[in-house]
Amino acid sequence: MTDDAKYEYYQKDQFEKFEGTCSCCGECCGSTDGDPCADLARDMTTGKYFCRTYEGRLGPRVTLSGRMFACVPIRSIVEQGLLRADCAYNRISER
Ligand code: SF4
Ligand code: SF4
Repeated sequence: MTDDAKYEYYQKDQFEKFEGTCSCCGECCGSTDGDPCADLARDMTTGKYFCRTYEGRLGPRVTLSGRMFACVPIRSIVEQGLLRADCAYNRISER
């Protein structure tokens, strides 16, 4: 395996570990605040939340009541120290 391929593999592995940290509670998308993002959905079998537009999610969005907000990468929220108290990413930011 070339160094480039190793680096690409490492990056992909790190990305998957980071993404896999999420417990899909949906809190960062408003699942518990009474006015969630209109794109937030719940799998009734697993109880986990998911985004209907995940690949194109970033940017201006709207809540169920019509409030505008910006969907930003979870990395930005981690970096700004704005994680919800119960968010699984707190385990990463505490390292
Ligand atoms: S668009 Fe953003 S805020 Fe809305 S459900 Fe998807 S990830 Fe959550
Ligand atoms: S609050 Fe944290 S654990 Fe819950 S869905 Fe958002 S990123 Fe995932």
